[in-house]
Amino acid sequence: MEEVLKFIADNNVGKLAKWLRMVGFDTESFNGTDDGEMVAIAVAENRIILTRDTGVMARRLITSGQVRAILIESDRLVRQIRQVSEELHIDKSQYKPLTFCLECNRTLMPRTKSEVKNRVPSHVFETQEQFVECPSCNRIYWRGTHWQAMQRKIENVIE
Ligand SMILES: [Zn+2]
Repeated sequence: MEEVLKFIADNNVGKLAKWLRMVGFDTESFNGTDDGEMVAIAVAENRIILTRDTGVMARRLITSGQVRAILIESDRLVRQIRQVSEELHIDKSQYKPLTFCLECNRTLMPRTKSEVKNRVPSHVFETQEQFVECPSCNRIYWRGTHWQAMQRKIENVIE
């Protein structure tokens, strides 16, 4: 059975966290100041830590291998994506877009066309059939041209 990857992203890799959510990985953002708290969440929820902070990597639970963590080498998003994809052998077949809210990582809920009427631009309403909504921040997502262009750009990075 394939392992479902879940992450907790340190506040120094925020864009990477957003990308992971976009392609369908459960990725919590850690915005606290106590690294120990981030490690504790990783243990409790079986999440992989993503950080640019070598101090985090020196923690006992990480050096002992009880918690998995990846030290992100570059500050450039494309390189970060490449690093994580290579280290975890992530490929496009694992992508599940429109699963998590890009902003708050909540699971998106399917919505019918009539439910989003007057809540999305009219050209979107007329051309799109599938919509999802975040139950927390109420953002509505769809597979629009913008999303497709972004997806293509990312696929080029991976390949
Ligand atoms: Zn949201």
